[in-house]
Amino acid sequence: MMEQEKSQAKQLKEKLFMNRKNGMTKVGAEEITKADEFCVGYAEFLNKAKTEREAVKYAIQTAQANGFSEFDRTKSYQAGDKVYVNNRNQAIMLAVIGRNGTKNGVRLGIAHIDSPRLDLKPNPLYESHSLAMMKTHYYGGIKKYQWPTVPLALHGVVALKDGSVMDVTVGEEDNEPCFVVTDLLPHLAVEQMSQVMTKAFTGEHLNVLVGSRPFNTDEESENVKLNILNILFEKYGMTEEDFLSADLTMVPAFRSRDVGFDRSMIGSYGHDDRVCAYPALMAAVDTETPESTVITVLTDREEIGSDGNTGMKSTYMADFIADLAKADGMELRHVMAKSTCLSADVNAAFDPTYASAFELNNACCINNGAVITKYTGSGGKYSTSDASAEYMAKIRRLLDSHHVLWQTGELGKVDGGGGGTIAKFVANLNADVVDLGVPVLSMHAPFEVVSKLDVYETYRALYAFYSEE
Ligand code: MN
Ligand code: MN
Repeated sequence: MMEQEKSQAKQLKEKLFMNRKNGMTKVGAEEITKADEFCVGYAEFLNKAKTEREAVKYAIQTAQANGFSEFDRTKSYQAGDKVYVNNRNQAIMLAVIGRNGTKNGVRLGIAHIDSPRLDLKPNPLYESHSLAMMKTHYYGGIKKYQWPTVPLALHGVVALKDGSVMDVTVGEEDNEPCFVVTDLLPHLAVEQMSQVMTKAFTGEHLNVLVGSRPFNTDEESENVKLNILNILFEKYGMTEEDFLSADLTMVPAFRSRDVGFDRSMIGSYGHDDRVCAYPALMAAVDTETPESTVITVLTDREEIGSDGNTGMKSTYMADFIADLAKADGMELRHVMAKSTCLSADVNAAFDPTYASAFELNNACCINNGAVITKYTGSGGKYSTSDASAEYMAKIRRLLDSHHVLWQTGELGKVDGGGGGTIAKFVANLNADVVDLGVPVLSMHAPFEVVSKLDVYETYRALYAFYSEE
């Protein structure tokens, strides 16, 4: 009698309870091998594309190698044609024209390619007590204490007054120098360590050490700074004033690495959100003649609120869709109303060391697959779009029918803080949208961690979304 009751309960549980087993128990060895193989390419992307400009360059090369050509709005396109639009070398859109074009709406997959970092100030270089230093202005949400004593590389562009633009990368190769923000030794840090973190490390503490040798032994002041400027002039033909027309940034100099004895995870700078941008890019190049036109957007400025002409508050995406709509004899607003979007962005993976920040019933976990985040925001669901029940059902149905490993996640405890993604800006265009992406440990730190399986399942989710009839 007891045995039978138990088995009835077990049966009913299997029918009614959500299956919350660890994802590794749900997928076969073949799937895990495929995930490991997919992540070889991802690790390479991480090392090649540390800034949005480098990610755009990588995306253009990948797109061209896979039959995409630059969009020309005066040309007419057929189903299966592949085009891309480069927005100022800082954001890119890739479209695969569908059999129905834009008539039933478009499918949007949008990830961001900017990551938190230390931008150089417009006038960065100074000498203090015979050390050459650079002032930075941090970009995005960082915990400032994490950035001192981390080897940094300089990335970006300098635009000269003659109109020429130079790419700058220093600190990535083993034979190149790197840079560093210094910190106070513990012996003398009694006062520093008694302060709250927001006071102990401020934006003006994030000064980067860039040199220490003087130009020569002249009695002139600022000879160390002069020596640095001379090196920059010889290499790039730039003067101090040219820093004013530059986008230069300091990012962690280290490369992506496997994490764990079992090599199940990847540690890297800037997983958020290249860990979704790469799967989205791969899904775009693997998509052949979809039902509706598929548009992959790798956008900029997400980490600072999506403002600016390369961010999702800009009209650039809607303008492109309007061009595609016009070619189909459609109005943009009618296309948007029928469009669907996966906002491909990360969520915070449950961290046992900081368990109290999470609410476990609703937290996402490493190795449980792509995470669907119905809403982000903060407080009483402020500053977010909340995906509708109907759209959630549609996405669940899609993922299950393609056997994608997925989970759901909320960003930490209610009132624990909060955050946002580009989802709300797409929702504001009157499209259906939900966040889907990869759980990340140590999000926004110089070295973030993700699971290889979750990266691959995010690719599979996006590919399923693009190719679904
Ligand atoms: Mn993000
Ligand atoms: Mn972020």
